[in-house]
Amino acid sequence: MRNYLKVFYYLHGMMKRACSDRGKLIEHQNKNLERIVKYAYDYVPFYHQKLKNVGIKSSDIRTVKDLCKLPIIRKDEIRKNFSKIISSKFDMNSLRMLSTSGSTGLPLRVSISKGEDDYRKAKHLTANIFCGQKPRDRYVTIASPSHFGEVPKLLRVIGVYDRTFVSVFDDIDTQISTVEKVKPNVLAGYSSSLLLLAKEVEKRGIKTIKPRLILGGAELIDDFSRRFIEEVFDAPFYDQYAIVELDRIAWQCTARLQYHIDADSVIMQFLDENGEEVSAGERGEIVCTSLFNYAMPFIRYAVGDIGIASEDECPCGITLPLMKMVEGRKDSLLVLPDGRLLSPRTFTVAMNMFESTRDIDQFRVIQRKIDLFEIHIKKKSEVVNEKTMESKLVMHLKKMFNVKDDEVTFEIQFDNDIRFDKTGKFSAVVSELKKSF
Ligand SMILES: [Zn+2]
Repeated sequence: MRNYLKVFYYLHGMMKRACSDRGKLIEHQNKNLERIVKYAYDYVPFYHQKLKNVGIKSSDIRTVKDLCKLPIIRKDEIRKNFSKIISSKFDMNSLRMLSTSGSTGLPLRVSISKGEDDYRKAKHLTANIFCGQKPRDRYVTIASPSHFGEVPKLLRVIGVYDRTFVSVFDDIDTQISTVEKVKPNVLAGYSSSLLLLAKEVEKRGIKTIKPRLILGGAELIDDFSRRFIEEVFDAPFYDQYAIVELDRIAWQCTARLQYHIDADSVIMQFLDENGEEVSAGERGEIVCTSLFNYAMPFIRYAVGDIGIASEDECPCGITLPLMKMVEGRKDSLLVLPDGRLLSPRTFTVAMNMFESTRDIDQFRVIQRKIDLFEIHIKKKSEVVNEKTMESKLVMHLKKMFNVKDDEVTFEIQFDNDIRFDKTGKFSAVVSELKKSF
C-alpha cells in the first residue's frame, strides 16, 4: 500500500512540474542539485575524492550554473570504482542491481534502492500519460527480462497501470500469442522488438492486435521503420530516450516535434570537445546529472550519446525543455576513411532504400575497420539469389555513401539467424572502432 501511494505521490508532482513555468523548474533543479551534491560529497567516497581533487567543496555547488565546476565522469571510471560509488548509507545487499547493455562488451552495473524504483515507475508513467495512456488501459511491454519491473501488487489487483511483460528472448510465436491474448491498448518496448513484431504481424495478416498508442525506445528507430510499425498497427508511435542508469530521460509528446527532457529528475547538458556547453541547434555530448539516484549517484555523467540542444517551445503545453533527436550512441557512430561521420540512422535508411529491401528480413552492420563494413543479412525467403543481392547491395551502398571502389569494402554475409546482445537489446548498426568522438 505504501509503495502504491508513493508512486502516485511522485506521479502527481511530476505531472504538475511538467507544465509549470520555467522559473519554478529551475528552482526545483537548484534545490535538488544542491542536495544530491552535498549527499554525494558526504556519503559517496568516489565523489568525495573527485571533488577534493579539483579543490571543490559541496557548498560551492548551489545552482545549475555551478555544474561546470565539476569534473565529467565516464563509464569506464564508474566501472573501475563500482564499490566506491555506492553510498555508505545503503547496504549493498538491499539494492536492486540493473545492468546496461554494454555495446562495448563491458556492461555497467547500476544499483538502485527501493525508493528509487518507485520513483522510476512514476517517471515512466508521466510521459505515457501525456501521450494518452489511461489508468485502466491494457499495457504490454516487450523487453529484456532483466528490465522487467515489478508491478505493485495493489495496482495489479485493482487493474490500474497494470502491465504485462513479454520477453524479447521468447520466440516470435510466444510473443504474438501473449500480445494477442492481452489485446493491449498501449504497446511498448524496444523499437527493434516492435519492428520485428510488426513485420511478423503483417506477414501473418493478424488483425487482432490494435493498440491505441505505441511507445518505443532503447535504440534508434529510423523514419521508415517507424512508419512501418504505425501502418501495421494503425496507431501513433512515440519514441522515448532512456538509459538504464537514469531510466527515461527524454520523450516525444503527441506533437512529436522534438523530445521533452525529464528536467525535473535529470539535468541534461550538451557539451563540446572542450567541455563547454554548445549553443542551441548544435550537437553536443550528452552529460547528465541525476537528481534522484541516491544509492549510486550520477553527477556530470557522460552517457555516451550525442544530442542537439534546443531552446524551442513545444505547442503541446508541456513546458519541460526540448532537445533534438539523439544522433546515435556515441560508440556506434560510423566513420568513413575520408573522415565523414555517419549516424547509425543513415545506414538503416540506406538499407531501407535498397531496391530489394523487401527481401531482407533482418540485417546488422558491423564496422570492423575504417575501410571494412560487414553486413549480415537474414533473407526473407530461400528463393532469393544471394549472388545477385550481394552485388546489387554493394553497388547501392557505394553509391549511397559516395565511396570509390577501392576506398571501402562492404562484405555481405548471409546468416540464418541474427542474434540479440546478451541483454536482449539489438543494435542494427555497431562499430568496433575506437575513436575520440
Ligand atoms: Zn510537447
